[in-house]
Amino acid sequence: MQKNLFNYYQKYLPINENTPFVSIGEGFTPLVKSENLSDKYNCNIFFKLEGSNPSGSFKDRGMFLTVAKTLEKKKKKIICASTGNTSASAAAYGARYNLETVVIIPKGKIALGKLIQAMAYGAKIISINGNFDESLLAVKEISDSLDFEIVNSINPYRLEGQKTGAFEIIEQLGFSPDFQFIPVGNAGNISSYWKGYKQFYDSKICNKLPVLYGIQADGAAPLVDNKIIKNPNTIASAIRIGNPASADLAKDSINESSGEFIKVSDDNILDAQKIIARKEGIFCELASAASVAGLIKLISKGYDFSNKNIVCILTGNGLKDPENAQQYLKSNIIKASSDPDEIKEAILKY
Ligand SMILES: *Cc1c(COP(=O)(O)O)cnc(C)c1O
Repeated sequence: MQKNLFNYYQKYLPINENTPFVSIGEGFTPLVKSENLSDKYNCNIFFKLEGSNPSGSFKDRGMFLTVAKTLEKKKKKIICASTGNTSASAAAYGARYNLETVVIIPKGKIALGKLIQAMAYGAKIISINGNFDESLLAVKEISDSLDFEIVNSINPYRLEGQKTGAFEIIEQLGFSPDFQFIPVGNAGNISSYWKGYKQFYDSKICNKLPVLYGIQADGAAPLVDNKIIKNPNTIASAIRIGNPASADLAKDSINESSGEFIKVSDDNILDAQKIIARKEGIFCELASAASVAGLIKLISKGYDFSNKNIVCILTGNGLKDPENAQQYLKSNIIKASSDPDEIKEAILKY
């Protein structure tokens, strides 16, 4: 039987005898040691492949529990604002558990793969003239009167479910990492990880806590710049957020762990995505690549990570965003007929 988060981590989660079982096989994602970057930087870098979740991002870790608690309350409708992955995840669980699912998305701003997912799973999609922050405001405004459960990370069960990422890392390594790099958008996930690490520390399952680095994009860095960004802008749409809902929790996480928020440029993010694909065989989302871009930036600024254990959370799968993957289509493709000799010649001259 496939292990599931619901049963495996039940005693660490707000699950009781009235909570209906929910799972699409989320969690238990691979923690893969980097081969090439570890050597290059003389440290042990691990990638947590959250793109391996059923809907292709970590959002499923929070969604399974949020949907279970929605069903426990006998509610039949869920709603979210989304830069894409929350809607894909909500739509998947909504389909499986027969919930009316509405997603509010910023028009023209969500990656094509994520939009296709929400449509394939059969969600009701409302595209608004506004950005993510405005979508979330609208959701908060209308959810009560229509009796919808909000499944964004302002729902506390999202953060509770996402703690399991930290639990898994501790179990996979056998200890807590020294450092964790994680992209920060609405700032829920970094807060979840910190909660998870602290919970296992308090339960004496690990004996130290990692230092957290929260990575934002230059044009969408409210937590680095310490102000709300009215028109956040970055190529990494999953972290294109100017007014993070969990800003306070995330700041506490960074302070308590003696970490830092840092920002990276879109070029740094694009480079990192390519490095991870070409040197490690892992194709992650641009937002996910921000974590590795952050690590590389700190190393270039002289931070010493030698011989340390570092986890980078690769939050989502690279195939979700085909438009921004167009850069790879510029690679040479040599045309040939089906004649083996001609194919051979093409290979030799590539
Ligand atoms: C949602 C998301 C993020 C940002 O997570 P927050 O909890 O909003 O900070 C990062 N990467 C991907 C791929 C996401 O889907």
